[in-house]
Amino acid sequence: MKKRVGLLYGGKSAEHEVSLSTAAAVTKAINYDKYEVYPIFITLDGQWLRGPQITKPVESIEELQFKRNGSSPNNITEFILDQNTQAQFDVVFPLLHGTNGEDGTVQGLLEVLNFPYVGNGVLASAAGMDKVTMKQLFSVAGLNQVPYVHFIRKEWNQNQTELVEKCENELTWPMFVKPANLGSSVGISKASNREELIQAIQLAFQYDRKVLVEQGVKAREIEMAVLGNDAPKVSVAGEIKPMTEFYDYDSKYKDGSTALIIPAEITSEVESAMKDMAVRAFKILDCSGLVRSDFFVTDNNEVLINEVNTMPGFTPVSMYPLLWQHTGIEYPQLIDALIELAIERHTEKQ
Ligand code: ADP
Ligand code: MG
Ligand code: MG
Repeated sequence: MKKRVGLLYGGKSAEHEVSLSTAAAVTKAINYDKYEVYPIFITLDGQWLRGPQITKPVESIEELQFKRNGSSPNNITEFILDQNTQAQFDVVFPLLHGTNGEDGTVQGLLEVLNFPYVGNGVLASAAGMDKVTMKQLFSVAGLNQVPYVHFIRKEWNQNQTELVEKCENELTWPMFVKPANLGSSVGISKASNREELIQAIQLAFQYDRKVLVEQGVKAREIEMAVLGNDAPKVSVAGEIKPMTEFYDYDSKYKDGSTALIIPAEITSEVESAMKDMAVRAFKILDCSGLVRSDFFVTDNNEVLINEVNTMPGFTPVSMYPLLWQHTGIEYPQLIDALIELAIERHTEKQ
């Protein structure tokens, strides 16, 4: 019998458009002999709309953007997730990034309703979204990473001078300032002096009440893909070469000015250090399904972990699927593997 897959995409986040492209790509690659595909679109303002079954690749993302009161077909219904809908799917595939999609909130909802779902659970998603928590767990796992300082808005408002001094005492220039809870480089800036640091912190506080300041490193950015549940596999490594000063939002999504080099040119020592760290990071966050682990590799081959992404970019031209393709798993098989891992994890929980 075919498995019924609920594709969950769109979402109330900066990555709404990216999610739509990913969903379109999945409809092109998924095996319709094995799966019945049902779209669930989350609009930018947060409505959940369910469309008719998808039986063939969609031609454009517009086909996936249902409108509740527009010129859309009659068979668009508001989608209420409850115990009744639970019987309608064998697995839900969240293709969502960022806030509300990758941070454990949607995962919690799916968990409460007892849906099997692709990817990371509540704990891994939430811990992976909060860069401070993630780093604290990495340090418990003994993973090498850049030094950092963190604080919340209230502390900043009360002790600005002391916190600036703390950054200057504990870190060297340049520094990278980040809101704790975002992705896609949103709200991140590089600061090369005190004035820029203060500005960067103020900017980051516009996005979150928790901010971290990291020591900047001059390093190559190299990534690995992890796939599995209790016995995760690791892909070959890939390097990103942003043409901008750092890998910011525009170079990720807009101007395509980033080169991906797969496999990355690294020594076998660096590769095995990265593999080991990628698995340790996966385990300490209790990940499942998929994760992309991002590293800095310095000129003298020191490997530092930067972050893991619990729902990495997943279009066929994104790093995560490309890394698997170079490791021998094509995009359609990757979709199969993720669905199987979701069902396996759900079954083991029962
Ligand atoms: P996001 O989760 O938004 O991708 P990252 O922590 O990966 O956030 O930061 C985005 C980019 O900023 C990185 O890919 C890298 O180019 C640059 N960057 C971040 N932290 C540092 C650092 N400590 N040193 C040097 N570059 C950094
Ligand atoms: Mg990230
Ligand atoms: Mg990143």
